[in-house]
Amino acid sequence: MEAAMKVFNTLSGEKEDFLPQGDPVKMYVCGVTPYAEAHIGHAMSYIIFDVIRRYLEFCGYTLRYVQNITDIDDKIIERANLLGLSIAELAQKYTDSFFSDMDALNVGRADIYPRATEEIPKIIEVVAGLVDRGYAYPAQGSVYFRVRKVADYGKLSRRDLESMMTTESTVGSDDKESPMDFVLWKASKPDEPSWESPWGPGRPGWHIECSAMSLKYLGDTIDIHGGGRDLIFPHHENEIAQSESFSGKKPFVKYWLHNGLLQLGEEKMSKSLGNLITIKEALAKCSADAIRIFVLSSHYRSPLTYSEEALEAAEGGAERLLRVILRNDPTGGVGEALDAEPYKKQFFKAMDDDFNTAQALAVLFDLARAINQAGDSGLSFLKAKSVLSELARSVLGLRIPRIVTLSATLKGTATLKVKATVIRGSKPPPEIEVEVNRLVEERLRLRNAKQWQLADKIRAKLAELGIVLEDTSEGTITIWKCTPEVGSFDNLLAELGIALEDTAQGNSVEA
Ligand SMILES: [Zn+2]
Repeated sequence: MEAAMKVFNTLSGEKEDFLPQGDPVKMYVCGVTPYAEAHIGHAMSYIIFDVIRRYLEFCGYTLRYVQNITDIDDKIIERANLLGLSIAELAQKYTDSFFSDMDALNVGRADIYPRATEEIPKIIEVVAGLVDRGYAYPAQGSVYFRVRKVADYGKLSRRDLESMMTTESTVGSDDKESPMDFVLWKASKPDEPSWESPWGPGRPGWHIECSAMSLKYLGDTIDIHGGGRDLIFPHHENEIAQSESFSGKKPFVKYWLHNGLLQLGEEKMSKSLGNLITIKEALAKCSADAIRIFVLSSHYRSPLTYSEEALEAAEGGAERLLRVILRNDPTGGVGEALDAEPYKKQFFKAMDDDFNTAQALAVLFDLARAINQAGDSGLSFLKAKSVLSELARSVLGLRIPRIVTLSATLKGTATLKVKATVIRGSKPPPEIEVEVNRLVEERLRLRNAKQWQLADKIRAKLAELGIVLEDTSEGTITIWKCTPEVGSFDNLLAELGIALEDTAQGNSVEA
């Protein structure tokens, strides 16, 4: 593959040609510590690496993508004790919750999710190897990495040893040869979970997990290692020191990619500041597409500032794309057509330039505008629409619409076709969706029977609940601005004075 693509490498501080070692491209992204609900900062990072992965695959690369799960850690132990759960139960609960968040955000799964507690033999092998080679030393049941033995330590974060401070746990810190040394293996306290090791019962340090897992699943050198900027030091610096000292091969990572951090106003969003917004809270207010557009509207290396207004603007963008996709091309693709090729080229140019999704999204919005203009002037736009849809879905991971066409046979009327589209808010529970679709059908039936007043009443009532009905030549579009509570409809029919007739629900097709 030609080196059209450039990526910014934190290690060199420059944009470099992307030339992976071979096939498949090996990618590792630091995963979660499952002790609480994942927040929007996690969403940002995993959406970014999801799009990088999608784009590489779109360009024809095959990927092997590994993301670890740190399922043993001080925070997990603390929280499990607090909630009266076992460590395994707590970690499983939040791991499951993390996967359901990622699915909701349309973030594709990595190929392998190794868990720290299942990789203890490999971790011990790497720690023992480092001890053998003189890069690590045991002390009081723990094992520490001897930072002074690595001449180029600090190359990723551009720090020199003298200016560094240790940020690793203080467990057994008095036993360290030097304050910069960090822990590879922690001796356990009597009431903590532990594994047998040559140095006594203990558990792995955080940094060594990622080195051991990437060595095991991806080999000595990986192509892309990703994570948030806050992981550059000490986590990634330490990963380099461990992996290169163990394997004797450099580089451990060809391209280090780091995303900017999510901010809330001027502040970093963090658990300690108590200003976290969980992914579930955000998804209760807006669609996954809106969250993706919000994240991708800014360059991945820049900090991103969260605000409700920014999410609302992103939701508006999602709606604009959807309306274009829903637009019917009356020419049926025949005759003079809008040429989408220049837009496609610009889109690839932006993505090839260090995954400039902000620019790529802007190109898609330009294309959407051009499609609307083409439609207004009678030009065919069928092909342009499929280009828009493919780039938005395959590369940026947007779902765009969920179009459900319901055929309902109503007593005494002909079959009605209802085009119901969910375009805002999270996916409603099925019982609510069925209820709304029945009301939409009922309204159409009333309109057919020229009972305008009652029909309008249904529309007004649904609007109060945040569901807007729009009549178009394509059918009725249902816009879910929010998801009503289950039970909101209980007295609605009585209030409206409507006796809903039995309907035989037809097929529901998802497009
Ligand atoms: Zn890591």
